[in-house]
Amino acid sequence: MKTRAAVVFAPGEEWEVVELELDPPKAGEVQVQMVAAGLCHSDEHMRLGELKPRYPLVGGHEGAGIVTAVGTSTSRLAVGDHVVFSFRPVCGRCRYCVTGKSNLCNESARLFEGCLPDGTFRFHHNGEDVGANSMLGTFSEHAVVPEISCITVPKDLPLEVMALLGCAVPTGWGAAVHSAAVRPGDVCVVLGAGGVGSNAVQGAVHAGARQVMVLDPSPAKTSLALTLGATQAFTVEEDLRKAVHEATHGDGADQVIVAAGVPGLAETGFSLLRKAGTLVLAALGDPEKVRLDLPVALVARADMVIRGSALGECNVTVDIPRLIEMYRQGSLKLDELVSGRYSLDQIRQGYQDLHSGANLRGVIIH
Ligand SMILES: [Zn+2]
Ligand SMILES: [Zn+2]
Repeated sequence: MKTRAAVVFAPGEEWEVVELELDPPKAGEVQVQMVAAGLCHSDEHMRLGELKPRYPLVGGHEGAGIVTAVGTSTSRLAVGDHVVFSFRPVCGRCRYCVTGKSNLCNESARLFEGCLPDGTFRFHHNGEDVGANSMLGTFSEHAVVPEISCITVPKDLPLEVMALLGCAVPTGWGAAVHSAAVRPGDVCVVLGAGGVGSNAVQGAVHAGARQVMVLDPSPAKTSLALTLGATQAFTVEEDLRKAVHEATHGDGADQVIVAAGVPGLAETGFSLLRKAGTLVLAALGDPEKVRLDLPVALVARADMVIRGSALGECNVTVDIPRLIEMYRQGSLKLDELVSGRYSLDQIRQGYQDLHSGANLRGVIIH
């Protein structure tokens, strides 16, 4: 069948909305009609060549849709199911899945190639194979995705909000709850209050932090962070530093979550920690420019913990349904995170609004 999709043909080029040929689903795959797709910064990193996937690539790894066809040996899903996509699949069989680390599932190994698990492609343009970001390609009106990348969601909930549960929400929320392991009474700092940071704030609040302090240059984002439960929010680093000093009597924060891929930010975060504090790295960025440079002695002498956090170390099979119930109950705020809605053809505008700081989470409505 034909589908329209936003594609990046070469690093540094703009998003192009073009018509693609879409193959039917093979074994273990489903075809979906996309309903909504989140405009995550990672797709833009790939467009700009700061992260280097295989090109051409259909963008989008955050989204939700409706199953329209199933391939053979598909056991978990049926036509008509509403699903949110996990940008890391869960095979349920590899050593990571069976030891509770499904966020590192071995089926994620080829995500940057953009092919499906069998090594072939479902999108084609003028005879050329086109990859799909994270085996998904949510910037396409229709896509064929692995069944193991789908989590069913209740049909009464809005898919444009459910879409955020595929990346921004678990990545941020889990960074605080799982990776930072915030405990009641802790002082937790979140650097960057975008899609990931704002959900790290919610996670830190849920985990019982007595102070959740946020730093972001955008006043719109710091003010949203306050409505999500942050106790203090700053646009200037020195003001944050003073506040951490006062709140901890000079000791330093228990945890710092780095939720933006900005050069130097991880070192800033480290300098705000107490002894044996935890630095959580939850954001990506250009691997050449966004780096961590620290004296080993400083880390060794004080039992410092530096922890990576992929998908917030969430087990999506358990955590996405949990987050959905918290949303129903009102304790997890999701509607507030959607700051702009765009058609597929307005994708460039959507990303301009992300760069200008106007967007917390823009969503494409297909
Ligand atoms: Zn993302
Ligand atoms: Zn696995």
